[in-house]
Amino acid sequence: MKERLRVIQLHHTRPFRIARAESASTSTTSVILELLQGDLVGMGESSPSKYYDETVESVTAVLPRMVEGIPDDFDPVEVSAQLARDFPTDRSARAAVDMALYDLAGKHAGKPVCELLGLDAEDTPVTSFTIGIDTPTVMREVAGQVSGRFKVLKIKVGLADDVETIRAIREVTDLPLRVDANCGWNTPREALERLEALAPFNIQFCEQPLPAGNLSALKEVHERSAIPIMADEDVIGPEDVEGLAGCVSAVNVKLAKCGGIAQAVDTIRRARKLDMRVMVGCMVESSLGITAAAHVTPMVDYADLDGNLLVRDDPYTGVQVRDGKLVLPEGPGLGVETRPV
Ligand code: MG
Repeated sequence: MKERLRVIQLHHTRPFRIARAESASTSTTSVILELLQGDLVGMGESSPSKYYDETVESVTAVLPRMVEGIPDDFDPVEVSAQLARDFPTDRSARAAVDMALYDLAGKHAGKPVCELLGLDAEDTPVTSFTIGIDTPTVMREVAGQVSGRFKVLKIKVGLADDVETIRAIREVTDLPLRVDANCGWNTPREALERLEALAPFNIQFCEQPLPAGNLSALKEVHERSAIPIMADEDVIGPEDVEGLAGCVSAVNVKLAKCGGIAQAVDTIRRARKLDMRVMVGCMVESSLGITAAAHVTPMVDYADLDGNLLVRDDPYTGVQVRDGKLVLPEGPGLGVETRPV
């Protein structure tokens, strides 16, 4: 199997900031992997994140080594398990290989990836649209602009003016809101105070109230908060799920964090066994990575797959949003096409 690698820059429609970042970012870099087999091309995207110890350099260095050992009659699930053993920490690189293999497998079979997974394309959930941290006035303005197109909004919080922000957004929309503190509150007491103040605003759940790695503190917040708590930074791959039992009511699964579709399915099944609710989320990435994630969403309760909508130079088309709901492409494999120029 031959591979082609390409590094692409995705420019944000507006500067994007989360609580654990020093400042807003204006662009994101992805590595695109193409696997060539006969006349077929399988495509995958890696969205490396320094927070999860990956960089564009680490991904481009490791991808050829990952591709080297893949047999021609590959089974994506087996390859994913093997790569997880051989390259445990290169998760977003593994995700690119996994997506490209599912794309190829679907193209060989003439079926969309969701069908390969035994899922019904009609069962996709609505997706939230994410509003990054800015002044309450700007965030209210963005909420007003997008609230007609979505059924739920996700608001980045975790700084001092959280309550003011949510109050401002509530002036322009009645949509249910998800909040994501991205590790921004420091202690269970601070988190619980903030959650109590946010509770009257119809908040569906709160992602990652505290810094990752302190499960007893997370448990305390989960047990005492009226708003359901979802782990994000605390759940990287399938092996993290069991430890979160009793500490959260939901988990946010992302292909770039866990290593791709096969690892996501494993993570979701483990969470389900523990009666957790599940969201499929994303990084800021192109329609390639977003569409790959969308194929898994018929399995889950919530989707937050808007990374492609936050950039202005997405080179691909794939999943669409209609009336807030994810609509999967009908073509074989991932169904992703290069955007006509
Ligand atoms: Mg999050």
